This record gives sequence, C-alpha cells and structure tokens, in this order.
Amino acid sequence: MSSEYPGPHGKAAQRRETIYWMRVAAQRALGIYLSVPFCRSKCTYCNFASGVYPASQHGRYVDRVVEDMRGARDWAERMGVELPRRVDTVYLGGGTPSLLEPELVAAVFDAMRAEFDLDADAEITMECAPGQIADATLEAMARAGVNRVSLGVQSFVDREAQVSGRLHSRAIVEQDLRRLRRAGIANLNIDLIGGLAGQTRGSWEQSLDALLAAEAPHASVYMLEVDEESRLGREMLNGGGRYYAELVPSDEAIAEMYGRAIERLGAARLAQYEISNFSTAGFESRHNLRYWERRPYLGLGLDASSALHAAELSSRKDGPADLLRAKTTDELTAYLSGPQPAETAWLSPAQQFEEAWFLGLRLNAAVDMEALEREFGAEMVAAAREVVERLAEDELVSADGARVRLTARGRLVSNDVFQEFLGLGAGQLAR
Ligand code: SF4
Repeated sequence: MSSEYPGPHGKAAQRRETIYWMRVAAQRALGIYLSVPFCRSKCTYCNFASGVYPASQHGRYVDRVVEDMRGARDWAERMGVELPRRVDTVYLGGGTPSLLEPELVAAVFDAMRAEFDLDADAEITMECAPGQIADATLEAMARAGVNRVSLGVQSFVDREAQVSGRLHSRAIVEQDLRRLRRAGIANLNIDLIGGLAGQTRGSWEQSLDALLAAEAPHASVYMLEVDEESRLGREMLNGGGRYYAELVPSDEAIAEMYGRAIERLGAARLAQYEISNFSTAGFESRHNLRYWERRPYLGLGLDASSALHAAELSSRKDGPADLLRAKTTDELTAYLSGPQPAETAWLSPAQQFEEAWFLGLRLNAAVDMEALEREFGAEMVAAAREVVERLAEDELVSADGARVRLTARGRLVSNDVFQEFLGLGAGQLAR
C-alpha cells in the first residue's frame, strides 16, 4: 500500500496519505453486533425488529447466524470490503439474548472464535431482560467470556414496568444485579426510559434513586420515542386506550426528566459522554463508541447493520476511504429460510461527512473541525461552518475554536440539529 501512496506531493497527496493512515488505524480491529430478536413479551413502546416466537426457533436462528458468520469472509471479499480478523468488541443485542439456551450461547461464541480472533480483553456485552436470565444461561455466558451486561430495566417502579409490558419488578432487578455480580460480571449497564405511561416527576426520582443505589458503572437514559413502529406510539398518534397513551407525560415533563437524570447522574460521577449514555471513568461502552467514532463493525442476524471500509482505497481524488453500509433483512421467516442478500450502499465522501457530524455530535467529546478538514478537505468543512454558526446563534451547539458540541438545549432536539447537516453532501454512489 505504501508504494501506492508514496508521501506528500502537494495538498491532495497529503490528504490521501492522512486518509490512508486514518483508515489503517481504524481497521486494526472489528466490532461484531449480533441480534437475537426473541422476546418473552412485546413491550408497548418497542419499535425494534423483535417478537415473541416459540423457543423451537432459537436453534434454527443460531444455526443461521453461525452460517452467516462462516460466510462473512467470502461475502466481504465479494463486496470488496476489508473484514479484520481481530475483534475488540462484541455486542449481543435484541430482542432478549438472555433467552437463548446455554448450549446456543456456547455455539455462538464457539463459531465466533473459530472465525475471528477475539482480543483477550475484548468487551463482550449481552443484553438481558430482568427475570429472564436462567442460571444455566448465566453460567454459559460467563464461560463464553461475556464480561458486560446491559439490563433493560426502563423503570424501577413496578406499576410503570407492568403497564409497559415488562415482566419484572424492582426486587427482580436487584436480585439479577446480585446474581450477575456473583457470576463475575460487574461491568453493568442499566437502561431507563423517561416518558413511560404513568410516569410522573416523582416516580422518575424513584427510578433515579434506585438506579444510583444499584451502583452500576454505566447507565443509558432514553426519552420515549413516539412513532408508528410501536403499539404505544401508534396509540398516541392515532388514538385508543389499550396501552395507556393518555398516561404518557407531556414533552415538557419528559425533557425535565432527562435534565434531572443528567444532573443526578453527573453528581454521582456517572458522567454523560453521549446523548443517552453515562458512565464512571473507564466504563464507557467501547462497542457503542465505535458507532459514533465511525470504526468498522459487522452486523449479524436479523435487522443488523454493518459499516465496513473498502479493501482498496478509493481512486477518487481527495475522497476518504469508501465505506459500505449493509443491512440484513428484518423478516424472520425470510432470514430463517437461508442466506439473504443484504441491502448495501456505498457512501460517498459527502455522505460520510454528514455522518461524521451527526454521529460525532452525539458525543460530549465534540466534533473536531480540524480533523474533519484533514479527512474531507477545506471546502466541505467551510459549508458546515456556516451551519455551525447558525446553530450556535440559536444556542443549539457551542463552538470552542474548532471543537463543536451540542448544548443542553441541542441535546433535547438533537434529531432536528442533525437534519441541518444533511444535504451538505451529494447522493449515494452507484458501484
Ligand atoms: S425486551 Fe426489548 S426488544 Fe423485546 S419487546 Fe421489550 S423493548 Fe423490545
């Protein structure tokens, strides 16, 4: 490769060299996301591709995932993307991966270790639902090297959990936290949602009290998403009384809950490092950081996304390395029937530039415009600078020299802020 990019001969060559070395650094290790779409019941607010399926599907599903894992290298070669063997983060999400039987947990990790080299200190996360982690599965998780668990609590107030379709109580969550720690898994995340039906400012404080009392080193706090994809969202948009839409707090109350979470978690040394994520120092989610920092990952299973760099550096002048985004089917029956072609799109440099903004702005660490200039060139950054100035006037972002971050107000309407960076780029490339 170095003979292809022999060193700086003018600005364009310098930029190409920078891009090349950035990509080499980024390619050193891969993250693997594996989706497990099975749930014991469907939560009212859930807009994921998950469902309640008979346990008899679990084995077939894992067989298919293993088949895809074995075929991943051939697929990457056909697509012309680089698939590093070295893996430094793994994330089993869903769905409820803790519903997998112990032998299936073992089968997933055996296959993964046969195809990839997992770092000895790789972060290996599994999402679990409270009250849905069988003893034998927990043992299998620990044996397979799972060293981080994300627990979908959403509310510590039993009535709220119940009307949202969750199957646990606060006592069950606390018991599971003790069991996980006894099994040697102390790197724990707890998810909460602000805006559940029946939630009040007072009950939110109770959930925050319980969250802090649990002393997990990581917490994710989401605000309720209202869209047609969830039953609660549809009821809020179209009316009805089955999922307690009338008990969903107002937008102002939800914004206040989010603000209180930032305040109280910060005071307890769970520092916010991303719009929805908080951790004690050194316990940030390494896997999720790779999405926002635009490092490569392979998605396996139902409705899973991948982002992988082209094996050969783009021949386009001044363009950064090509990036392939791929997404697997979200139809379980189709997925189980055999290998399915993934939906793929090569992102143009301009599209990658837009992503650099809306992924980077999620992080409190800020977007560094000088780094973007080295990667994408001065012209693209100049266009974004105008957007930044406009957003700064509205106090949605703050700019400290070349470093741009969302303000507290910007975080509340982050999707609207991100929209402002769309359209700086051109359309997708056909390849
Ligand atoms: S457990 Fe998670 S994936 Fe399953 S229905 Fe509830 S929110 Fe959705």
